[in-house]
Amino acid sequence: MPELPEIVVFARDMQKELVGRIITKIEVFQPKCLNIPEEEFRAVLSGARILGVAPHGKWLKMQTTRGWLLLNLGMGGEILLTDRAHLPEKYRLILDLDNGAVLVINFWWFGYAHYADDPARHPMVGKLGPHALDLSQEEFRGLLKGRRGTIKAFLLDQDRIAGIGNVYVQTPLWRAKIHPLRPIPTLSEAEITALWQALCDVLQGSIDAGGAPFELNLYGQKGGWDDPYLFHWEEAAPCPACGTPLAKIRTGSTGSYICPGCQTLESR
Ligand SMILES: [Zn+2]
Repeated sequence: MPELPEIVVFARDMQKELVGRIITKIEVFQPKCLNIPEEEFRAVLSGARILGVAPHGKWLKMQTTRGWLLLNLGMGGEILLTDRAHLPEKYRLILDLDNGAVLVINFWWFGYAHYADDPARHPMVGKLGPHALDLSQEEFRGLLKGRRGTIKAFLLDQDRIAGIGNVYVQTPLWRAKIHPLRPIPTLSEAEITALWQALCDVLQGSIDAGGAPFELNLYGQKGGWDDPYLFHWEEAAPCPACGTPLAKIRTGSTGSYICPGCQTLESR
């Protein structure tokens, strides 16, 4: 599923392509992805001019002259800019634009296409933590202060810090040599600094490369993020840093790959 880097890439390309365009028609093929009745959704956004598109964690916030369209691809999906003659095989939502282009949105399972007067009052977007890449080192440290629980659970909690999921949580922890099950109060100052730096480097590195290679951008192209750790997520593949076989461990409801040599439960 797309996480912060892919959403930032979408927002950047959508900002470039869509600002100033008018939504002329809307077709909805999965009404349960909406938060208001389909008729009302179409009525309120048809005729709206797009003013801007911004990322917030795993959400895209599209501001229009008639309020906001908030998009979240859920467990995965695509947003494609194309035309009526080149529609993809699967889609849940089509927005026709006044220049003949269409914005086609697909959710593999289901996602959200929500209307909001004000994103700050939206039940999910309104309580998101800060966009992970907007945090200074001091702000990141401040978020961790007084927190209990494990570092991985914290990083995945969108209400604490927004944009990191199972893909982008593993490499920063590995780079900072922190075990995903480390209780937050046991992290040293140096470890927090290393983790913040690794998060910035990994997220920004992926954005610069156009996102993950298994996700498609607005033009249907794969991202070029080349992470030496990413393709070692099979048990027993050697750690790119020390050669120790990687191991899969359980971390709450999800699994994590770790290097038992680099990432230990003791603080350093
Ligand atoms: Zn290692």
